Amino acid sequence: MPRQTSPRLLVRSSSIHAAGCYTLEPLRRGQQILEYDGERISKREADLRYEDRLVTYLFGFGEKGDVIDGFGTAMFLNHSCDPNCKTHEEGGRIFIRAIRDIAAGEELLYEYNLYDSDLADTADCYCGAPQCRGTMYSEAEVKRRNRLFARRKAKAAR
Ligand SMILES: [Zn+2]
Repeated sequence: MPRQTSPRLLVRSSSIHAAGCYTLEPLRRGQQILEYDGERISKREADLRYEDRLVTYLFGFGEKGDVIDGFGTAMFLNHSCDPNCKTHEEGGRIFIRAIRDIAAGEELLYEYNLYDSDLADTADCYCGAPQCRGTMYSEAEVKRRNRLFARRKAKAAR
């Protein structure tokens, strides 16, 4: 497969989180922007490696629970509840694509849809979008956590 030239991107400080990734050129809707690259590790390995870390760049996907330990520009993309990009899996590789036309200078954002997390970790979202859900978890994960919390409360009330 010929190597696709990726658009010029810039990593700099972001109001959403420490650093963000910005495009220096306009992007078309549907355009593939970059790959979420990094070492492939198992979920178990990821848990061991980052047990006590607040910030990780792990990307979990697939039915087997494969994890990419992000290394590269893509790990700087922040979460937003009003994203302009989304991730796409192709043969075990993760690519980030534009879901609308994006102007030069815009920050690139996608929905993290986090899952399988520690109950102590609230993963609060500060994206600032009007429709912000207040969390970076996927909707399924929010439901799962609510069920677990309800169960805990029921136990504590006994
Ligand atoms: Zn948000």
